[in-house]
Formats: sequence, C-alpha cells, structure tokens
Amino acid sequence: MAQGRRSCGCLAAALVVVLAVGGFAGWRLVGRQWLEVYRARRVPSASGKELQVHVLDVGLGDSILVVAPSGKTVLVDAGPPGAGKKVLDALKRLGVDHIDIFVAANAHADHVGGAGDVFKSVNVGQVIYSGFPQTTREYDDFLKAVQQKKVELVKAQPGQSVDLGDGALLRVLAPIEPYFEAKDLAAGGNEPNANSVVMRLDYGEFSMLFAGDAEEQTERRMVEKGASIAAEVLKVAHHGSKYATSADFLKRGGFHWAVVSTGADNRYGLPAQETLERLKAANVKLYRTDLQGEITISTRGQKEDVKVTAAREPKANQDIWAGLPALRDDSAKRGFINYGDLPPAPKPMPEKTATNKNANKPTGAR
Ligand SMILES: [Zn+2]
Repeated sequence: MAQGRRSCGCLAAALVVVLAVGGFAGWRLVGRQWLEVYRARRVPSASGKELQVHVLDVGLGDSILVVAPSGKTVLVDAGPPGAGKKVLDALKRLGVDHIDIFVAANAHADHVGGAGDVFKSVNVGQVIYSGFPQTTREYDDFLKAVQQKKVELVKAQPGQSVDLGDGALLRVLAPIEPYFEAKDLAAGGNEPNANSVVMRLDYGEFSMLFAGDAEEQTERRMVEKGASIAAEVLKVAHHGSKYATSADFLKRGGFHWAVVSTGADNRYGLPAQETLERLKAANVKLYRTDLQGEITISTRGQKEDVKVTAAREPKANQDIWAGLPALRDDSAKRGFINYGDLPPAPKPMPEKTATNKNANKPTGAR
C-alpha cells in the first residue's frame, strides 16, 4: 500500500513535469506566436486629426514624407543625389523642421543620394535601415552623415513598430531574414532591392504600404510569413519595375490607390508597361510622380475621407497607363547591380556612365 502510494506520488510528479514542459513548449510554439500576431495587428484608434503623406517629386527615386496627426514626421528616403534641395524645399513648404524617423529603404543612390543634404540642414531622431550588407558611394556618404550627426541607427526587423502618436502606427514588414542572395533572384532581381525595408502605416481605418524597391520574391515571402499587406494605398515597389507588383500580391493587398515614384525618360523602363497592366487589372486608381508631380494623401482615419491629390494634371499627350520603354534591363543579370538605381542623365553619355559604374561597384560587405 505504502509502495503503491509512493508510485502514485511519483506518477503525479511526472505528470506535473510533463504538463509543465508540454505547456511551456506549447506556449513557445503557439501561444507566443499568437501573441506576437495579435500585438502586430492591434492598431490604436485614430484621434481624428489629419495625417498626411507626401510622395515627393524627386525624379527617379523615392522620397516620401509622413506628417502624423501628432506632428511627428517620418521621411522614407531622400531621393537621388541632387534631390536633397527638393526635399528640403518640400519640408520648408510644409512647415516641417525636424525628422523623427528617417527610413533608408535600401542602399541605392536613388534612396539615400539626397540624404546628406537633408541631414546637414534638419535634425533627425533615428534612422531605420535594411541592414543588408551592401555599399555604394552614396550609401557611404549617407552613413558618414548619420555618424556626424550622431543619429541612432536601427536595423529594420519585422514586428518592429513606431508609435507616431494620436493613433498612427508605423510597422516594419521586411526585410525578412535570411536575406535574399543573388541565387534566390534568378528571375532577374537585385539583392539590395529584394532586401528593401517594407513598412506599413496605419491610422484608424486607413493604411498605406511602403514597398521600397521590393522584388516579387520579397512580396511572396511576406505573404508566406503572414505579413499584413492589405492597405488602402500602395507605394508601388521599385518605381514600377516589372520584377515586382505581382498580380497575386495586388489581389491580396486589395489596394484602392497606387502611387509610382519615378522620373521622366529614365532608361530602365520604370514604370514597366506590364506592371501598369497588372495595376490596371487590379482596378487601382493610379498616380505617377513623373506625370503629376507630388502626390499627397490625407485622411482623418476614416475609409471614406481618404483624399489623394496630385500637384498637376498629366499633359494632354501623356497617358498615365503607358509604361516607359526599357533601354537597360533593371535586373542583376545585366549588371544592373553595379549601377544600383543611379538615375542616368536623360541623354546617353557613355564616358560618364563608365565612371558611375566604377564608383558604385560593391566594394565588400560592411
Ligand atoms: Zn529605387
């Protein structure tokens, strides 16, 4: 009997241990994941004040200013070299005298080229960057500017969020590690682009996806990992490249508006006709900075009150649904990676191109 009680006690103790271990493992496997998903999807309620997003007209490149209802500001990229003045003019016009968060979507010149000038003139609170080891001359200059101003550098990771106050929330969706390598991008991609920082901005019922220069592989991985990509507005990936913005991604995103940030007469064919066809098939209302200048989106957090306006109408002979012919393929296969997205001179200049090519050759990991 005593032995029976002892073995019974041992059994109970073993059961407790099994339950404890099982419960802990179960929590790790399911509970924690659920909590992370819940936390990531939870959006505070909107205060009702106006949020503005300005997709600036910087030519072939990106520079997008978010003015949150609280007055906090986010600048996603600063356009190509020489665009710094345009960005600063826009900040002045909009009464913005500081940047709380600067996001460098990738290391290419068309995203960080203008950043040095911006950093010289305006205080920046924090920099979020992709962390993908890549270097270009412009990126080195950008990092120097960040160091000189002693700005905190934060590597983008999915699940990170920045509370912009008054109900506005900025969240990182990508890059999702392991980073894409050239071998993963056989379809014609570019590593810094595929590992771009992708973010979403939420404010009440409104949301906008900033796709950086993501590739189709980036889109697929975000979908596979359950990233919240559905949004009202899409900043189209990679200036409308044919290597992104797949029909499947558009279907899942359910976007109502799409903005392409690009420059007139670029030789990479950005935006590509086939991308515009996919956007048309997805029934989005399209805006383009090359034909309409700065695009402004404003909302007080209600779906019905979203306003999208363009600085100007396209000219009579300009068709918003007409892509540009590609004189140079924007893929890694054709050596594009050595150029980055460096915007070329409007007219072909062979000697200058050779100089740029050398200047932007990756010089090793950092
Ligand atoms: Zn780009």
